[in-house]
Amino acid sequence: MNIHHIHQSTPATAPAPIAELRAVSKSYVTGGGHELKVLDQIDLAVHEGELLALLGQSGSGKSTILRCLTGLVEPTSGRVLHHGAPLHGINEDASVVFQTFALYPWLTVEQNVAVGLMSRHVSREEREQAVDRAIDLIGLGNYHKAYPREISGGMRQRVGIARALVSNPRMLCLDEAFSALDVLTAENLRQELVSLWRTPGTGLSSIFMVTHNIEEAVEMATRIVVLFPRPGRVGLVLDNPLPYPRDTKSAEFQRLVSVIHECITTTTLPDLPPEVPVAGQPVSRARTRMESIPLVPVGQILGLLSLLHDSPGLSNIYDISDEIGQEFGNTIALVKAAEILEFIDTPGDEVRFTELGRRFVAADRDGRKAIFAEQVFRLRLFHIIIALLQECDEVEAEKVIKDIAMALPYDNPEKVFQTMIAWGRYAGLMDFNAKTKMVFVPEDEAEDTVSP
Ligand code: ADP
Ligand code: MG
Repeated sequence: MNIHHIHQSTPATAPAPIAELRAVSKSYVTGGGHELKVLDQIDLAVHEGELLALLGQSGSGKSTILRCLTGLVEPTSGRVLHHGAPLHGINEDASVVFQTFALYPWLTVEQNVAVGLMSRHVSREEREQAVDRAIDLIGLGNYHKAYPREISGGMRQRVGIARALVSNPRMLCLDEAFSALDVLTAENLRQELVSLWRTPGTGLSSIFMVTHNIEEAVEMATRIVVLFPRPGRVGLVLDNPLPYPRDTKSAEFQRLVSVIHECITTTTLPDLPPEVPVAGQPVSRARTRMESIPLVPVGQILGLLSLLHDSPGLSNIYDISDEIGQEFGNTIALVKAAEILEFIDTPGDEVRFTELGRRFVAADRDGRKAIFAEQVFRLRLFHIIIALLQECDEVEAEKVIKDIAMALPYDNPEKVFQTMIAWGRYAGLMDFNAKTKMVFVPEDEAEDTVSP
């Protein structure tokens, strides 16, 4: 049973939240003089004992919420509370770990950790004890005297966390604290922080974490708040009852991840036509969910396909990665792109042509274009543009980008837009005029066959 549920079920005796926003809005005045509304009427409370994750895409206002909650920034309107009373100045119960934080290169690990006590009046002895404890808690045991340059990125991030823990906070706030780390290091730190939070007697009651990573939120949090963007609004609030330690491979875990993903895409897209019927072309049922596309150029997809075609023995994804000399992550993105276009299948580590993929590679330029267009058409994401272009021949890029941002809160809408245009252009379905910033239906496809 998790502590959060105990609080939920006994509201009458439950202590006031450690930190709370009531109807908080925040606007900034931009360089051009107009007002940018970043947060709109946010109600959010961090309760004693809970591990609350705030999930939202980049730019949705997560860091601003964290800064308001901890007293680093003042809201434009609304109230910030601390144990039920108005917060004045910095919340002394909270410590923040930022994604990138400066370690002083000329200070040792223990001196860097002690920076977290700088604003407090403590004796030298108390300080040394607190530093030792924080260093122990976060597994930096043998590195007291090391300098930042002598330790790995993961260890440096631990120093940042130890610096936050040294003041013995009741609430630890993490702002994308794992996003700059490699996968394994991040995974380790996540598990360690959860077990630290679950250990009684550390003084740490709650964790408030900000992330754009759904799996990370589901792995760690007892409760998840999803922030919708532009302006930031509270979208969904979900309890996460899965027992710790959580198995990220379990069906339950994956189900919760897809529920969140699903809710986000369906609730932010109320009026998108589910299917756009065109020229008797049925939309693939398997791809009706709004799914992002890997941000890879068409040329690289074609390159991957011809490599596979020319090297029939080459099917292992690691070998392919070596062969094309790309980082593994890029190779995965390329393979994923070819897969959602249904040109290849990926059983296990293997990459294999589909029937369609073979036909595509064997086709001439026009044949390829037609097949590509058909496949792009099956991707529901493209219906955002196709639906708009069916109403009129031209549509503002800004409008398209806004719709993409609504459909895919976890992606960079500009980059997705550029990739979609590149794919759509190759398919002959759409084009973009960078001067007028309009997306349009290409008039004469024959013309561009002159280019190689
Ligand atoms: P997130 O952490 O979710 O990426 P932020 O809270 O950092 O989002 O920012 C939300 C929006 O507010 C962004 O559009 C950002 O450009 C804007 N913003 C944040 N801080 C400021 C500031 N000090 N002045 C002007 N705009 C800001
Ligand atoms: Mg941020």
